[in-house]
Amino acid sequence: MENSFSVIGGDTRNCELAKMLANEGNQVYVYGLEKSNLKEQDVENIEICDHLEDAIYKGNIVIGPIPFTRDGELLNSPLANNKIEIDDFASWLNNKALFAGSIPDKFYNITENTKVIITDLMKIEELAVLNIIATAEGAISKIIENTDFNLQSSNVLIIGFGRIGKILSNKLRLLGANVTCSARKQTDLAWIEAYGYKPVNTYNLENLENYNIIINTIPYIILKKEQLQKVTKDCLLLELASKPGGFDLQAVEQLGLNYVPALGLPGKIAAKTSAKFLKNFIL
Ligand code: NAP
Repeated sequence: MENSFSVIGGDTRNCELAKMLANEGNQVYVYGLEKSNLKEQDVENIEICDHLEDAIYKGNIVIGPIPFTRDGELLNSPLANNKIEIDDFASWLNNKALFAGSIPDKFYNITENTKVIITDLMKIEELAVLNIIATAEGAISKIIENTDFNLQSSNVLIIGFGRIGKILSNKLRLLGANVTCSARKQTDLAWIEAYGYKPVNTYNLENLENYNIIINTIPYIILKKEQLQKVTKDCLLLELASKPGGFDLQAVEQLGLNYVPALGLPGKIAAKTSAKFLKNFIL
């Protein structure tokens, strides 16, 4: 027997991670994945616990969700039967090592007087980048699902040239789309030009009526009513960024635009690959 792990909450990535760790001979205690297909009898070394404290107490390494929370109060646990309060989770972590993703500052304050070693997986650049492969593939799948035209020759605007912007622009161009990317830094605008995409400043987005697809990757409102009025009803607005996202949703609703939020894509479309990256890093 190697290490013992407590896998708490999260999405299908955490189910796959629990299975992989168990299959490699580690003892795994699970809580908050009751609605998943994870069954104790199917995998050796897995114990599905009835109580949060039991699951955490038994393992020495705790793996939480990515992202850690969606509302700041509850652990992100869409597959759990019961809600898991962040405060409750924090109270059992003394002397543990915790791995989770996008952990809010509030959690560090709550655990200040607890002996817990916290690793935010989404602050590990290699993992954040690998996570984007699935995000970009998922975004393309969402686009195809939600449009009635070809991606090839379509005019696509990607707002933000961070990890998602960089990887998604490349994949969309390979599919034959005309790609425009926005950024606020001159160096990013220069890189966009050098890659052969059309560069535009994030704070000066014009000709919005010309795009068939607008993808946002910035977690701050960028497109307000004044600009959204120019977007055509056929244009797909794809939201990839975390809340509040980049589109003014009140305006989107008033204008009756075609808005599709697509969050948590790695867990939805490539749980196994994502879990493998996480497992390799954690071990
Ligand atoms: P990133 O590498 O940090 O890129 C963020 C981009 O947003 C950068 O271009 C950054 O520009 C820009 N930006 C940030 N704040 C801005 C502001 N106030 N005004 C203008 N531009 C601003 O992040 P990422 O990894 O691409 O992820 C982007 C978002 O997607 C995050 O919210 C992340 O949580 C989310 N995400 C979603 C999924 C999914 O499944 N949908 C998966 C992974 C991540 P600068 O470089 O100039 O700051």
